Amino acid sequence: MQPSMFNVQVPLPDRNEVFMMNTFTDAQLLVSPDVPALVDRVCHGGSYTDEERDTLQALSENGFLVNSRAEERQALSNFFRSVREDREQLRVTVLTTLQCNFACDYCIQGDHDDHNLFGNKMSMAQAEQVASWIEGRLDELAPPVFVLTFFGGEPLLNLPVVYFLAERCHALAAARGITLRISIITNGLLLTKEVVDRLVPLGLTGVKITLDGDKETHDRMRPLRGRQGTFDRIVENVRKIADQVPITIGGNFDETTVDSYPALLDFLREQAWADQVVRVNFKPIIRTAPAPRAPKGVIPLALVGAGDKPLGGACMTSAGAGGGGCDSCHQLDDKLEFLRDETRKHGFPTSDGVHMGPCEIHRRHAWSVSPDGSLFACPGFAAEPTQAIGHVDGRHEARRAASAERFDALAAYRVCGDCAFVPVCAGGCSVASYSELGDMNTPTCHKTSFESALISLARTVASNQAATTH
Ligand code: SF4
Ligand code: SF4
Repeated sequence: MQPSMFNVQVPLPDRNEVFMMNTFTDAQLLVSPDVPALVDRVCHGGSYTDEERDTLQALSENGFLVNSRAEERQALSNFFRSVREDREQLRVTVLTTLQCNFACDYCIQGDHDDHNLFGNKMSMAQAEQVASWIEGRLDELAPPVFVLTFFGGEPLLNLPVVYFLAERCHALAAARGITLRISIITNGLLLTKEVVDRLVPLGLTGVKITLDGDKETHDRMRPLRGRQGTFDRIVENVRKIADQVPITIGGNFDETTVDSYPALLDFLREQAWADQVVRVNFKPIIRTAPAPRAPKGVIPLALVGAGDKPLGGACMTSAGAGGGGCDSCHQLDDKLEFLRDETRKHGFPTSDGVHMGPCEIHRRHAWSVSPDGSLFACPGFAAEPTQAIGHVDGRHEARRAASAERFDALAAYRVCGDCAFVPVCAGGCSVASYSELGDMNTPTCHKTSFESALISLARTVASNQAATTH
């Protein structure tokens, strides 16, 4: 027997307890300090009392003790394989257009210069091809659940394609007894009641909009091309649809804007629709490295939806994959925890920053489709043609096949050694690695972010326990 390499612990001196967690089994314990000391003693052998033997047995059953490192590494490898081959869901993210009606300074897309002139937009003929390809995947996989996400650019700039695909996918799923869940990741400007009225009956279950701080900050960060603000219109749109569909709110922050987020949270809490917000997730703005290392087309993304269950595959861009290539990295990791804390204090659900899990890029049956029908392993790469792994029309091209092989073998976590966060981090966001380091197999490590999130989790577990015992 030996301690698992996925054990983490947080001392809670004010309670004379230690929070212990195993990131692989998700077992969490509040124990007296002699328990971790007992775990350490296991390495050295020796004799145990009957009570200690019972404790060791319980620790073993919860994964804190393992037979051997080799066995544990094999279990980890099996876990990643099962995530990769999981057939419970078909996940397809469709970029209906690369055009955007906003002109955010930090975004490589958007209404800058002539981007919208050349930004691809999916035609109806291409949408027909996408629908046929989806039909093929549904027949091949026969999953219980099909998750369809509309993304861009700004996906609602191509409403005919959104409506067409939603209707077609609804019919395809209904004919096969498959549950369809549709989500939209939108800047919110065109998110009218009419759009939501039409999509809810087809399976719309989530909308994610972005607010980059309080009104003044958001209007500076996310203006239209003429620098007009967009905050009021987005909030008014959300007010009109909040009782029809769960709302997720995201926001991108940097050192200059993070301090405005508490005011945004105050504002959100005051809204009559505050309780319709199912999740609030803020993330640092990804800083790409200077050209030529930085590819032009990668897109930071945070997934829409209500819940990350343990190891549920949240998009790690919301775990802190930003700033890795710049000096402010750890400062932003700290700020991320500060914002999670503020979000919780305002009564909004948010990620705990620990339970992230391997993201979409590690799943074989998660696809992203660009406006021209090219297929990608992850939405973050979907504007980068050199990373395409196929095409909905089934064409065979050597470069796409080579790219597919590259993504199939992707395992940045292999260089992470015995880091205790591997099961929940998987080596971090490959898009951040590619854009910041030029190599998707080199992790952009945000271990400090996991460590500070773990401390918060420990305190939350302890105070929840105190509340239930009083
Ligand atoms: S690689 Fe990064 S952008 Fe892509 S799904 Fe994973 S966390 Fe999200
Ligand atoms: S990227 Fe960092 S935190 Fe994530 S598994 Fe690797 S070493 Fe651990």
